[in-house]
Amino acid sequence: MDTAPPPASGTDDHPQRGELRSWLEAHPSPTGRQLAERGLVAPHWPAPWGLGADPALQLVVDEELRRAQFGILLARTEPDAPKHQGISYFVCPMDVPGITVRPLFDMTGSHTFNEVFLDEVRIPRENLVGERGRGWSLGKVTLGNERVSLSGAGALWGMGPTADDLVATVKAAGGTRDPLLRQRLASLWSEGEILRLLRMRTVAAAVAGVPPGAEASVRKALADEHGQHLMGLARDLAGASGMLASAGPTPGRSDAGPWPDAIYDYGFLFAPALTIGGGTSEVQRNIIAERTLGLPHDPEV
Ligand SMILES: Cc1cc2nc3c(=O)[nH]c(=O)nc-3n(C[C@H](O)[C@H](O)[C@H](O)COP(=O)(O)OP(=O)(O)OC[C@H]3O[C@@H](n4cnc5c(N)ncnc54)[C@H](O)[C@@H]3O)c2cc1C
Repeated sequence: MDTAPPPASGTDDHPQRGELRSWLEAHPSPTGRQLAERGLVAPHWPAPWGLGADPALQLVVDEELRRAQFGILLARTEPDAPKHQGISYFVCPMDVPGITVRPLFDMTGSHTFNEVFLDEVRIPRENLVGERGRGWSLGKVTLGNERVSLSGAGALWGMGPTADDLVATVKAAGGTRDPLLRQRLASLWSEGEILRLLRMRTVAAAVAGVPPGAEASVRKALADEHGQHLMGLARDLAGASGMLASAGPTPGRSDAGPWPDAIYDYGFLFAPALTIGGGTSEVQRNIIAERTLGLPHDPEV
């Protein structure tokens, strides 16, 4: 999901970025084996399998790999196997013949994701990651890591304003006397604190090398709705001015604070996507029910 901030324009923000970028420039189409030998398949693993990367280096690796243009391809390689077996996981260079990428524009007017068509695409056998036919397990780890990557402090998949920003903005503007808005602010702030503690737990687990588990789904299910609550409350605080483009949560304020138009209008329009992309809230709840609470499996249709 292409929602991370743009890669740093220079190479001096992290000591290993320059070296990594040079290696990727020297290997514009690395095979799965080359990526694995360079430690880029599981950078958080210790050498020689990975780079022993801390979270900061993992983000640098993500950003640099995103520049170089690879996709992950899950392809059914054994047509007769049961539905979660017989799927293989490949690294797919996006410049091979047969791939068409069409941008999808959403209601914010911008485009952060695409529809991708693969027509008779052929990639080398060595781009297979892990064992043939066992890609679903690896895919689940990737999706778990995606959930972690969406879990920064900001309410819009880790970006944008936080509940603290909204409370601070309202305080700076003299507060609000409306008891319902005050109650919503208190509840929003409490959600923000719960999410902060869950985020610390997830990051601590990642640093300890524990793969993301159902708590990543718990966080995502809560955080996505929190983002919608935050942007909805910010819009409601603006009162009737909220119907106008570029009205911040405290109308009449001369400076935008953490609410420049780009975040405020874009964030409000983007918020409905939070509970869909990266796995819907309903599906996260299924994962929590089955894996954490041990409830019976969803009925097979
Ligand atoms: C901003 C954004 C970015 C995205 N980026 C990417 C991307 O980079 N790569 C990518 O591959 N996809 C991306 N997506 C697509 C996204 O992952 C899918 O839209 C999402 O997983 C839902 O799948 P679907 O649209 O096919 O809905 P469906 O699976 O058809 O679901 C429709 C509805 O039914 C519910 N539902 C489905 N199955 C169950 C179930 N078993 N139990 C209960 N409820 C269920 C869903 O919760 C949903 O409400 C993005 C979507 C958005 C909005």
